Amino acid sequence: MTELTCKLLIIGGGPGGYVCGIRAGQLGVDTIVIEQEKLGGTCLNVGCIPSKAMIHAADHFHKMCTASDGPLGITAQNPAIDLAQTIAWKDGIVTRLNSGVAGLLKKAKVKLIQGTATVIDGKTVRVTGADGETTISAENLVIATGSSPVELPFLPFGDKIISSTEALSMRDIPKKLVVVGGGYIGLEIGTAFRKLGSEVTVVEAADRVLPQYDAALTAPLVASLKTLGVKVLTSVNAKTSGKDGLIIEENGKERALSADKILVTVGRRPRSDSASIQSLALTMDGPFIKIDERCQSSMRGVYAIGDVTGEPMLAHRAMAQGEMVAEIVAGHKRVWDKACIPAVCFTDPEIVTCGLSASEAKAKGIDSVTSSFPFAANGRAMTMEAETGFVRVIARKDNSLILGFQATGAGVAELSASFATAIEMGARLDDVGAIIHAHPTQSEAIQEASLAGLGHALHI
Ligand code: FAD
Ligand code: NAD
Repeated sequence: MTELTCKLLIIGGGPGGYVCGIRAGQLGVDTIVIEQEKLGGTCLNVGCIPSKAMIHAADHFHKMCTASDGPLGITAQNPAIDLAQTIAWKDGIVTRLNSGVAGLLKKAKVKLIQGTATVIDGKTVRVTGADGETTISAENLVIATGSSPVELPFLPFGDKIISSTEALSMRDIPKKLVVVGGGYIGLEIGTAFRKLGSEVTVVEAADRVLPQYDAALTAPLVASLKTLGVKVLTSVNAKTSGKDGLIIEENGKERALSADKILVTVGRRPRSDSASIQSLALTMDGPFIKIDERCQSSMRGVYAIGDVTGEPMLAHRAMAQGEMVAEIVAGHKRVWDKACIPAVCFTDPEIVTCGLSASEAKAKGIDSVTSSFPFAANGRAMTMEAETGFVRVIARKDNSLILGFQATGAGVAELSASFATAIEMGARLDDVGAIIHAHPTQSEAIQEASLAGLGHALHI
């Protein structure tokens, strides 16, 4: 048994944990990170990066398959895809990033211990790994254990019932894929497999897909799913798996949907039961660890960050929390004072939300104005055959302070930085309206939507 001491001990090497480690190391804090699987966590190994790689490959293939039907005069003959090779390419990116994270931790002089952590008390953790057992005493503990896919009791994972992890590593394209849950993961991965050639059916319990967004924001996506041939069944409950596929209940009647694979994407649950965390009897917020504005749990010196602390379960939130906690442990005065956390759904078209929607502003008692600009009136969008969608901005009625942006369209993910910058810097509609946006770019729609809020858009 090895015994170690440190100032900061982090359980979990995902985006929350590894960023916390790097920043702490940069600040000279004696830090150890414990990871039981691969550095980078869900995001890097089985989440953000693999899914975006597969979406890119599927888009590329789909464009080649449909190029001859388009107006550009392109003929493409018999494109084919070798999924095993695509997966190998995706795995290569993941491996490069894994070693990149390891290198960054090493550079920051952070010690990495590979193994499974078990909490003994708020200052002591035991790690069981290939090299035996290590007991670590730390002044501060950060819980960054992340989340796992929710498993439906009547559709246990195994064989043809898969989670996103298996979906992102399949060697063959399933002929028939049924997706249970029309949220972020189901729609991103479901669309990718449709573009790769699968027959895809999405079964969603709510009355529409991505029910957390307003209907106008998801309308272009719903239309695109139809054009692509993705069947979407809403207000439908999955019941169980049958001999050939999934049994669903629709309008009070049961019927079978034939499937080679059933992808279950009905949300993620926090790993607040990992590492015997329950033994600390921390105050919980439902299934999540309750934290304050410094990510401190109910036990002094024990912090929690990332998916284990609640929504939104996004990698960039976990990273920002990790960076903040590292600085707090190093003695800096920090609190969570972010004005917004952008969220991007990498569907076709993409959807971005950042800050408040009109209804959220209303719920807060704020009088707001909403204005938007369609990509149909944007020159760059026309040249990209991407006229679907819009940028929408919400601002206070009394002083034009920007409260939120929503957008949908091809490639709008990259506009999210402008949205967050404007909100964090307290920009008003006239500030954004007065900034020169390069022509021709999709970003001109941000300026135009802001000008529209002031009553004088130029190009509509
Ligand atoms: P995790 O990344 O889950 O990392 C936790 C780590 O802790 C894991 O590596 C785990 O092995 C380790 N661990 C747990 N218990 C122990 C223990 N006892 N001992 C040692 N180690 C332990 N987010 C986005 O922002 N953008 C996206 O595009 C996006 N796409 C996604 C696509 C998919 C398919 C999925 C599944 C998720 C996606 N997410 C996306 C969400 C994102 O992956 C998570 O929000 C993010 O990974 C959370 O980071 P984390 O550090 O909190 O936890
Ligand atoms: P989600 O919460 O986005 O969607 C789950 C969907 O499943 C919901 O629409 C819900 O109504 C539906 N549902 C729930 N139970 C059902 C049932 N029994 N039958 C049919 N439908 C049912 O969850 P997810 O797609 O699993 O993603 C989990 C989290 O991962 C997201 O909330 C997000 O935080 C993160 N994520 C982010 C990105 C991104 O940032 N681009 C991508 C993927 C995942």
